[in-house]
Amino acid sequence: MPEPEQQSAATTPRHQEIGIAIIGDGYAAATMLIQLDERGVDPERVTVFGDTPPENIPNENVSLGSGKAYGTANPNYRLNVRADLMKLRPDDAEFSRWAETEIDDGDAATHAGDFYRRCDFARFTAETLTKCASSGGWGKVRSRVTRLTPDSDGGWRVMTADGGHYQAGMVVLATGNPDGNPSFTLDPPARDRLEDQPWKGVWDRTLKGDERIAIIGGGLTAMDILTTLFRHGHDGKVDLITPGGMLPPMQANWPKADEITPDGRVTTAHRLLRLWRANLPDDDWETPQWQSAFEGLRACLPTIWHHLPRQERIRAGYRLSRHWQLARFRASPQTVAAARAMLNSGQLELHSGRVEAMTATDQHAHLTLTNGQIMLADRVMMATGAGRDPLVQQCHDDGLLPRAMQGVEVDHDFQVYDHHWRPTQGLYAFGPPTAFSRGDVLGAGSIAKEASALADRLSDRLSVRMGEALR
Ligand SMILES: Cc1cc2nc3c(=O)[nH]c(=O)nc-3n(C[C@H](O)[C@H](O)[C@H](O)COP(=O)(O)OP(=O)(O)OC[C@H]3O[C@@H](n4cnc5c(N)ncnc54)[C@H](O)[C@@H]3O)c2cc1C
Repeated sequence: MPEPEQQSAATTPRHQEIGIAIIGDGYAAATMLIQLDERGVDPERVTVFGDTPPENIPNENVSLGSGKAYGTANPNYRLNVRADLMKLRPDDAEFSRWAETEIDDGDAATHAGDFYRRCDFARFTAETLTKCASSGGWGKVRSRVTRLTPDSDGGWRVMTADGGHYQAGMVVLATGNPDGNPSFTLDPPARDRLEDQPWKGVWDRTLKGDERIAIIGGGLTAMDILTTLFRHGHDGKVDLITPGGMLPPMQANWPKADEITPDGRVTTAHRLLRLWRANLPDDDWETPQWQSAFEGLRACLPTIWHHLPRQERIRAGYRLSRHWQLARFRASPQTVAAARAMLNSGQLELHSGRVEAMTATDQHAHLTLTNGQIMLADRVMMATGAGRDPLVQQCHDDGLLPRAMQGVEVDHDFQVYDHHWRPTQGLYAFGPPTAFSRGDVLGAGSIAKEASALADRLSDRLSVRMGEALR
């Protein structure tokens, strides 16, 4: 069994069982380590698995925490949330204070607050991790986890892409946002013209000034791409294809909302929709009062979601999801300004529709839309964000998880449901993959809260397991 690599001179005793294996090395893993540190969990009992390349990590000594969201050096990729709401610990505005002295960014300030570069948040995360008492004590395995199998003694066997096998008492899935898979037919020769990982932010290094660009998807990744093109002074035409034919709204300078206290009767999708309609003002959705009311609803969603039966969650997802996504994912003012300037000049054209197929000739990529329209492009940017997590897929294939599962479904204690829909002992998940069970747990602030609640359970269970081992 390969030994987990240690981040300091501390050595791992041979054959040590990992107490808590955290699968994933992004933001969620970082906030979990901070929470475990605060609860005094012995760092030698914790190992993080992940293979983020060093160039995406601001501090090699820490070697985690940037993940898909913040692991980019592209200076045009900004946080889409103002600084005081970006947290590593729940209810702490530490990032804002740190930014005042540690970030030199003349473009961050806007009427809606300060929106910093995402790579600077990764720097903050790395620095916060180095200040933890446990820093340097955690194990790190630089490889992807490819398979999990339960042990006879209630633990887990963790297998990695480089052939490693590890024993773990508890496993925490913090695998985050999977890579997008094309939702359209892709002719193999067209692959060379498709950029399917724009979130890395390196595609612009080979950008030619007059290339015709097509962007599939109209969310926040599309906004990052538009800002980068704008800042480069790109000359080529840009076509953006998205089902709603519109771009995300701008963040407003919204005051903290009064918390909405839902009554216990919101137990159906229908009642949730009624609550939503009753609480949103009849204003433009970019006004501070509209966003404030929306954020109030968002804050009470986890409580409501918790009480919705599974079938009602599916119903609510169908009926609310599109509106929720549009209102929820707001862009920074800098990003919106760039996109609107391109729209106003006629360089950017929005198309309402879906891409059905992508083919290519020697000269161009051809996109066929579901309405029959054909679009030509030199380069196609895939900004749809829809993807499957290969490890979760493997767990489905191995019969560990129910096939009908939406993402990774968990109980109130973050335990993943097994194929009989019973909580699986020692297997936990949190963050983006658990959104179907936990509600809107996608942003940094919400994930920090989830990590705090899960860390309570993990540290309690670790003490129980150690007590049992000593008896
Ligand atoms: C592009 C982008 C921008 C965002 N911007 C903001 C923002 O400005 N503000 C905000 O509040 N929220 C933002 N978010 C929301 C975001 O979901 C969270 O802030 C955060 O990224 C979630 O952290 P994570 O660690 O769960 O996921 P990720 O950031 O996706 O990291 C998961 C990590 O786990 C690794 N991994 C996955 N599977 C395995 C495996 N099997 N074995 C080993 N390692 C594995 C991945 O390689 C990755 O490094 C953004 C999200 C994205 C995708």
